[in-house]
Amino acid sequence: MIYLTRRFDFAASHRLFNPEFSDELNWEIFRDCNNPNGHGHNYELEVTIAGEADPKTGMLINILLLDEIVREQLIRHVDHKNLNIDVDFLQDIIPTAENICVVFWKQLAQHIPAPHQLYRLRLQESKNNFAEYYGPVQISKN
Ligand SMILES: [Zn+2]
Repeated sequence: MIYLTRRFDFAASHRLFNPEFSDELNWEIFRDCNNPNGHGHNYELEVTIAGEADPKTGMLINILLLDEIVREQLIRHVDHKNLNIDVDFLQDIIPTAENICVVFWKQLAQHIPAPHQLYRLRLQESKNNFAEYYGPVQISKN
């Protein structure tokens, strides 16, 4: 098994809050990220694909194809957008890096051409924090 990672950038704004909480509690939990008019990030998204390299090309997946898929399914929807308002597939979640990773996975995984698989998403939100997602947990029935 070989892993290939490609990095993508997008800029977006968001506001972290839970509508079920009072203004005071939202402020206590989310602090600066709760600013009523939002704030922005320059996000970095790493997409890791797992599989085997094709003996004829030496490639796991053609990066041009991967770029096209990730841009079509994710980046064009979120770049220069307000993640709370503008993005259909991010409605009704609190747009933390953790939640965005999980939703991005649902959007993207099905579009990676077999036999390759999406292995990991890593979303860097700021210099000091990022979330990583390896897909839904597989619970063994044995
Ligand atoms: Zn933020």
